[in-house]
Amino acid sequence: MKTDYLYSWLKIHKSQPTFKAYPKDLPELQSLLRELKSKGLSYNFVGSSHSYNGIQCVEDNVAIIFDGSGLKSIEYDYATQEVTVESGVTIEELKFFLRPLGRQLLNSGNYMKQRVIGALVTGTHGYGHENAIMADGITAVKLLNEDGEIVEINDEATLKYLRVSFGYLGVIVSIKLKTKPNEQYKVTQKLLTLSNLQTTLEDIGDKPHALTMFPYSDAEDPYIGLVFLEKLDSYHPPKEVSVGTPTIGSISWAIIKLFWTIDARFPIIRPFVQRLIGIFARRREDEIIITSPEDLDYLYDYHPMLESERNPSILKKFFTTTFTAYNIGVFVPRNELVDLFSFIHTLGKRFKNQRPRRYFKNSIGTRYVGKSTKSAMAGNFEVESYSVDIFFSTTDLKFAEAVQDEIAKQFTVRPHWGKSILKSYLLENITPEVLENFKQKRQEYYSSGLLRPNLGELDLES
Ligand SMILES: Cc1cc2nc3c(=O)[nH]c(=O)nc-3n(C[C@H](O)[C@H](O)[C@H](O)COP(=O)(O)OP(=O)(O)OC[C@H]3O[C@@H](n4cnc5c(N)ncnc54)[C@H](O)[C@@H]3O)c2cc1C
Repeated sequence: MKTDYLYSWLKIHKSQPTFKAYPKDLPELQSLLRELKSKGLSYNFVGSSHSYNGIQCVEDNVAIIFDGSGLKSIEYDYATQEVTVESGVTIEELKFFLRPLGRQLLNSGNYMKQRVIGALVTGTHGYGHENAIMADGITAVKLLNEDGEIVEINDEATLKYLRVSFGYLGVIVSIKLKTKPNEQYKVTQKLLTLSNLQTTLEDIGDKPHALTMFPYSDAEDPYIGLVFLEKLDSYHPPKEVSVGTPTIGSISWAIIKLFWTIDARFPIIRPFVQRLIGIFARRREDEIIITSPEDLDYLYDYHPMLESERNPSILKKFFTTTFTAYNIGVFVPRNELVDLFSFIHTLGKRFKNQRPRRYFKNSIGTRYVGKSTKSAMAGNFEVESYSVDIFFSTTDLKFAEAVQDEIAKQFTVRPHWGKSILKSYLLENITPEVLENFKQKRQEYYSSGLLRPNLGELDLES
């Protein structure tokens, strides 16, 4: 029996599962696992199905989906200041739960509709020196083995492999996470050029920072937007902003969507639009914003309140067509970033001048993620790194693959499990001992092999 399709973000990948199951509670999930084992049916787990690379889309599998109403409990422990979350909870729900308690997650990605579990197990990250990988905040996991039995794990040696495990080691029914008090930041935004990048990064050191390169903004020395955060020790009034109004909001969105449609149809305009950045850059002052301690999305939207609660900025949205793009992401060591930017700039010029012409979909996003010592399969494990996001039109999948291949030939790339195109070379820079231990954990909990995420070319069985 076949069911309807399961789609990844922007419908780039799809699969037709044997059937889709939406467990409402723990007993239902346990009996489902037992039934699948007795019938020898293969399966995989799905959160919000937002991973770009289709790791969650597997043909002919039973798709066990947490994007429903079940497994929604959130509990806060006042003594340990940790929060326990079930698999159906989204990042947004968790953030809203924590806010009135004056607490927040150690870090967070750019979007809040994902399930906490889906985000954690793929190595979703924000930025900063410590705990940039959200899963670094996990202190305990409740896992079901293939017989549906509960295994509670809180020893570091096993958590290290479970934190980022992309649904390969078993179904996680709940996790316990560290929280931190709500914080306030001074955010500085500036524009620089590639030739100034090295010295600027040396000045910034370990401050949390993110960069956005506009590859077509200048033929020789492209512009880069830089944002860095400094934590404030005492309260400062945050920047005032007004709540959006429906009329202005709808008109602004209509203009933005029209521009996005034109951009998708005529990518040839992208170099021209990016050249404008160069023209404005010469007149632009650095911008400093004080975030609100209650803010839920300050890591990507520095103005107080949620971005969705205000009228959209038309100018800013012109330069964020990335939301409508296919995103490939990899991690590279910190000392390779400047060379990587030069390389991508050159690649952009080369592909733009070939026939057919190919264009990046806007900017190259990069975040400093420090190094993780807690999540063995994370892209920054034991290596101080940047995560690099490259965006493509949804019709340019071959181009995206060619770019990832070229980068992998020159740089020490490691995978982002929800964004990288899963090709065999991504395992080359993972320490052999880490890979071996990860495979052993799989044998411990899931020796039947019925649990199968879509790992593309990656061979974790041999
Ligand atoms: C608009 C947008 C913005 C994004 N921003 C960022 C960002 O800022 N930083 C970043 O790092 N990433 C980002 N991502 C990537 C995204 O965070 C990850 O791909 C994440 O996995 C998506 O979560 P999900 O709930 O949709 O998981 P899914 O895509 O549904 O599943 C991902 C994996 O999780 C596994 N899984 C799901 N539930 C369970 C479970 N209960 N037990 C075990 N395994 C399970 C699945 O098997 C699958 O392998 C973004 C994606 C989008 C679409």
